[in-house]
Amino acid sequence: MKRVLVTGGAGFLGSHLCERLLESGAEVLCLDNFYTGRRAHVAHLMAEPRFELMRHDVTFPLYVEVDEIYNLACPASPVHYQFDPVQTTKTSVHGAINMLGLAKRTRAKILQASTSEVYGDPAEHPQTEDYWGNVNPIGIRACYDEGKRCAETLFFDYHRQHRLRIKVARIFNTYGPRMHPNDGRVVSNFVVQALAGKDLTLYGDGSQTRSFCYVDDMIEAFLRLMATPDEVTGPINVGNPSEFTIRELAELVIELTGSSSRIVYQPIPADDPRRRRPDISKAQAVLDWQPRSDLRTGLIRTIEYFARLAASPTGV
Ligand code: NAD
Ligand code: UDP
Repeated sequence: MKRVLVTGGAGFLGSHLCERLLESGAEVLCLDNFYTGRRAHVAHLMAEPRFELMRHDVTFPLYVEVDEIYNLACPASPVHYQFDPVQTTKTSVHGAINMLGLAKRTRAKILQASTSEVYGDPAEHPQTEDYWGNVNPIGIRACYDEGKRCAETLFFDYHRQHRLRIKVARIFNTYGPRMHPNDGRVVSNFVVQALAGKDLTLYGDGSQTRSFCYVDDMIEAFLRLMATPDEVTGPINVGNPSEFTIRELAELVIELTGSSSRIVYQPIPADDPRRRRPDISKAQAVLDWQPRSDLRTGLIRTIEYFARLAASPTGV
């Protein structure tokens, strides 16, 4: 039986990944320090004998025996990663060193949850994997962006120097059930605001764009990437290439929730990228993958989740 470690396994993406890995017959070790993750996200898996939950911080070494590692541990939303920026960099960099060290000792395959933020505020559009990015190294997003860039560096150096089998996924905005309701990200903010009948906070004039991928599609991409032959290392963009303005998103959320909320305009945060859309040609070719859920379908499922959460805040 394959033994798989998921760091950040009690988080949004991690908990969906644990579910899918268990369905595939693997033994799953879910590791989390519960900084943004919740036990409730994996509570329904606890009765499964092939599932184990471990409290641990990836900035400290870990000695376990595994065949595959998915390294997802890291706060992902600006509100959370800017709360303790030094810890954010440590999580990305020390976390990568520790998990790569574990992979080296166990000869495990290791996948890194990297991010579209490595492209910063991109000067090229859409972003292909060979674009080197436009990141402010001393700005308020740098703890996350530069931490993730350094983690990629470490992955490729371990690959070249120690012949580790690595897979680097550059994840673009992903949404769905189990997103943190207060993480400040646009989908959760708008849905929570609309369900509560509050104003939707649109930053700037709302003409900035993002491309939103539904969580199930993202998890499918992770599994396919991990299963690729050893010569496939990435980095590989994974996300949904359909691009929307943030104003369009706000209007769609109001329509789908049937809310009477209005849109209010607020100042745009520093270093907020103007446009973001992945070029996923490589993922299509190498993984034979492309997103299947459109924004409307994914939003309906996400709205259902947040409506249930509002009715039962201790866990759904
Ligand atoms: P999340 O915050 O829900 O999950 C991160 C998990 O990591 C949480 O459970 C948190 O408690 C845990 N964690 C944080 N620091 C830790 C530490 N030092 N030790 C152990 N556990 C720690 O976020 P998510 O959206 O599920 O993101 C998962 C991964 O995917 C992250 O690495 C993130 O950078 C990456 N990513 C996500 C998106 C997205 O749109 N969701 C986009 C790009 C990249
Ligand atoms: N945004 C917004 N209102 C909110 C939260 C975010 O208008 O309540 C905007 C934000 O300025 C950005 C976009 O939505 O332009 C996506 O923000 P998010 O934090 O979700 O992701 P990221 O900027 O990391 O892509």
